[in-house]
Amino acid sequence: MTAIQLKQKNPELDVLMLEKYKAYARNHVLQINPHCFNACQLDGDDTATQLLRQLQSKLQDQHYRIPCNELEEELRAIATAASITIRKGDGEMVMGIAPDHVLIKADSNTTHTCQHVPYDILIGADGAHSKTRKAIIEMKRREANESDNLGNTVMFSDLSQVDEDTEFDGGQHIINHRVRVKYRIQQDTGRMDSSFGNYVRLVYPTTKWLGSIVHEHISQDEDGNHWVTADFFIDQDEYDSLKQGGHDLKNPASLNNQELPATLRRKIETWQAVKHGYCGEVKIPDSEKISPYFIGSFHAEQPCHITTAGKLVFLSGDALTSLAFMRAFNNCLHNSAYAGDQIACLDTCSLEEIVDRIALHARLRYKKELFTAGLKKAAVDFLLWFLNISNKVPWQTNRFTAAEIDQLIDSMNRAIASQGAPDNLAGAAGFSTDDVGLPTAPLIAV
Ligand SMILES: Cc1cc2nc3c(=O)[nH]c(=O)nc-3n(C[C@H](O)[C@H](O)[C@H](O)COP(=O)(O)OP(=O)(O)OC[C@H]3O[C@@H](n4cnc5c(N)ncnc54)[C@H](O)[C@@H]3O)c2cc1C
Repeated sequence: MTAIQLKQKNPELDVLMLEKYKAYARNHVLQINPHCFNACQLDGDDTATQLLRQLQSKLQDQHYRIPCNELEEELRAIATAASITIRKGDGEMVMGIAPDHVLIKADSNTTHTCQHVPYDILIGADGAHSKTRKAIIEMKRREANESDNLGNTVMFSDLSQVDEDTEFDGGQHIINHRVRVKYRIQQDTGRMDSSFGNYVRLVYPTTKWLGSIVHEHISQDEDGNHWVTADFFIDQDEYDSLKQGGHDLKNPASLNNQELPATLRRKIETWQAVKHGYCGEVKIPDSEKISPYFIGSFHAEQPCHITTAGKLVFLSGDALTSLAFMRAFNNCLHNSAYAGDQIACLDTCSLEEIVDRIALHARLRYKKELFTAGLKKAAVDFLLWFLNISNKVPWQTNRFTAAEIDQLIDSMNRAIASQGAPDNLAGAAGFSTDDVGLPTAPLIAV
């Protein structure tokens, strides 16, 4: 999205995007802020702008929820229409950053040969665990120490594999721990909160029992399989137990994994049993993918850098700022629109001024977002506290008893067993030079 916005605002830029994976693998569902497209230019008549408008109305029809890989595919089509060159696949992995070029792996089989790709402006949009973010710090460190290897490439393989607190402005703020439970079902189903009646009858007693608000999403993949995705709040012990078992969004646990705490297994089964009993949902056994993650916020300590060769490097997306409560994508769009506007001023402003402005804008946005996140966290904590208390008081009428939950789970398991054997499971941004203003060498997206 950063590359698209830069191109929108600076049509003469030569933009190249590098992506290490051939296909986008992540399929978590994003809740997009409806106002996020305010930062884009949507008044043009070119194909890219038309596609952007179509995406905007598609999102509106889907209540601003879309799987990550689907959104990435849509954005890829828009970027291609905007004449942005995209190189993705095994050979396009950035291995290191030098003051005026990046080093990319030449192909998947010859790891020893690397290709040098020059840049004028380099935008590191390489995600929350960004190596570009660490590379900027390393470049600044070398410059401060006037070390001998000042002009050398900072190799990603030499950088820390973990995200250090020192990379972030004020450290990382973990807001809540969550688990994502994705499981396949036999046919389409309804959401538990599909009507006000269901909300009162089902959602309230279930969330009270679980001690967690649950976000549910129902989807169908390209093979026609139906999936339910439910996000639960969990406590730190449950999170740690799954993490210690090596599980995350890329390596989900199953319901039978021993690292899965019994309390969490019970919560997942309860959710599925209520959905089975009241929404007619029949799950495919052993199809659960259970991934712990946390929602948190951070902002890079060093968002921009001017290299010793006078080139501009800056961060975008999660590499720059990660935000909780469905604000990350929105924030990325606003920051990249601002960066695009600033790059358009390259013929009238110095690089230093541009760096200062981009960094200040991103930092102020982060502070504002952090404040909003604090308020939302207080509201969520209050709600969780309220659920916890109301699940304990003796005068409750609208609730599930332990016996009812056992019965629901039992009936779900019997229904699954009677089905016989389960079906087979089917399974941005960049860099610039200029003689007379705007960049002429490729703009590279990591
Ligand atoms: C479970 C979950 C739920 C979320 N829900 C929401 C939500 O509801 N709303 C919202 O706004 N945000 C949400 N987010 C955040 C949102 O997904 C991110 O803000 C967004 O994906 C960030 O995009 P990005 O391009 O900055 O980073 P990423 O999506 O992480 O992309 C980075 C890309 O860089 C590539 N890359 C990395 N290193 C290299 C290299 N060396 N060479 C070449 N390519 C490289 C990677 O392959 C990857 O494709 C959620 C995140 C998670 C994990």
